[in-house]
Amino acid sequence: MDFNEYRIRGKEMVDYIADYLENIRSRRVYPDVKPGYMVKLIPNSAPLEAEPWENVFGDVEKYIMPGITHWQSPYMHAYFPALNSFPSLLGDMLADAINCLGFTWASSPACTELEILTMNWLGKMIGLNDEFLHTSKDSKGGGVIQTTSSEATLVCLLAGRTEAIRRYRIENDTKESELDDAEINSRLVAYCSDQAHSSVEKACLIGLVKLRYIESDENYSLCVDKLIEAIESDKDKNLIPFFVCATLGTTAACAFDKLEFIGPVCERENLWLHVDAAYAGSSFICPEFRKWLRGVHYASSLAFNPSKWLMVNFDCTAMWVQNCGALHRTFNVEPLYLKHENSGHGIDYMHWQIPLSKRFRALKLWFVIRCFGVKGLQKNIREGVKRAQKFESLVRSDSRFLVPATRHLGLVVFCLRRGNHLTERLLKRLNTRGNIHCVPAALKDKYVIRFTVTSQYTTDEDIIRDWNEIREAATIILSEHDA
Ligand code: PLP
Repeated sequence: MDFNEYRIRGKEMVDYIADYLENIRSRRVYPDVKPGYMVKLIPNSAPLEAEPWENVFGDVEKYIMPGITHWQSPYMHAYFPALNSFPSLLGDMLADAINCLGFTWASSPACTELEILTMNWLGKMIGLNDEFLHTSKDSKGGGVIQTTSSEATLVCLLAGRTEAIRRYRIENDTKESELDDAEINSRLVAYCSDQAHSSVEKACLIGLVKLRYIESDENYSLCVDKLIEAIESDKDKNLIPFFVCATLGTTAACAFDKLEFIGPVCERENLWLHVDAAYAGSSFICPEFRKWLRGVHYASSLAFNPSKWLMVNFDCTAMWVQNCGALHRTFNVEPLYLKHENSGHGIDYMHWQIPLSKRFRALKLWFVIRCFGVKGLQKNIREGVKRAQKFESLVRSDSRFLVPATRHLGLVVFCLRRGNHLTERLLKRLNTRGNIHCVPAALKDKYVIRFTVTSQYTTDEDIIRDWNEIREAATIILSEHDA
């Protein structure tokens, strides 16, 4: 493909994308394919000779689209949103063309500097105080864009581990020759609620640290008394508590841990407090939802995904720390070829993350914030919440259903009153019909269906259509069961 053809094909692609998104309601949201469907359609060896673009692109509708779960569809209610928007798509198009790898300031100054600036914008948009921001060349706090919330949790857990080992050595006056890091590591304990995301467990597996799940209360928030008990018990066993992951907006029910109570415990015990606000974090741009951030000043780090609910397409996870020194001590390796004349002055993001290289993600974030404005982004969040309220009221109006957890933001969890088994059958039927797509969650011993309002294009009519789909499926399930 030469420049001229690229100009033509690129324009065709933009039209295809616009048609795809504009007409997405006409597609079955959940694909009707079986595992391995593609093997039968696509040759299992690469072509030796170049193929014309028409053939390649023609295969997208034939082979790819039938296997797509359409995340941008208003009928998609599974997981959490993964929104995109035109400014974001254009931002990534340009970033992919520039394709710089922003590991150091010198490897592409604009990539680093725009990330610093947009992370400050975003931090202020959600009401973070200056301790989390890049306020000067030497400020300790600041933001960085990571790939995912899982990676942010891992990065923070590893940084917390570094700090815990370092502190242990100082407090006990032990050198590495006397006691291996690995031995101290084997005594470290992390804590999260039984509602925390599985990525916390994964981070602990990678970090080779123990994880204690702390029971959540009737609101699915971490019980702080139980956290204190667990910490005391671990200290009695000569273990070293070092890290707490609090969740703002849990995956199962969008419940919130209480930072204002967890924070003082972490401060007293010298624990790294990481706040995982993967989904709910976007809502904090609206002042009315910021009550859940009360106590955030205790946090060592906080992360959320603009790639979920802030019109920025995947991937983009915003993460802030109050003390980047811990990241430096964890990730700083500096071979000669990466040194530059400004090394040590300002930020080289390779010291803030696991990979060396970094995509120019700040570009799409910058485009989105400017093209929507804070007000436009707030409007989208508020409309999503309103649609969820509408859905909740429909569910509550049907006595066959229960809403077993308080609705927060855009997620409603519901189940059939007649128990887990029938609710499970209902979900299976809904996903087999493929007209809407939902996933389940376990709330303690209750099996629930999660219904998240995802798309920015969802209307009240869509919500009513989807509720009718659920009601009809429930009628069939219940009458089959009673027959
Ligand atoms: N934390 C929470 C609370 C989540 O809900 C999710 C996913 O939805 C994650 C972490 C993982 O997000 P990511 O896919 O960005 O790693």
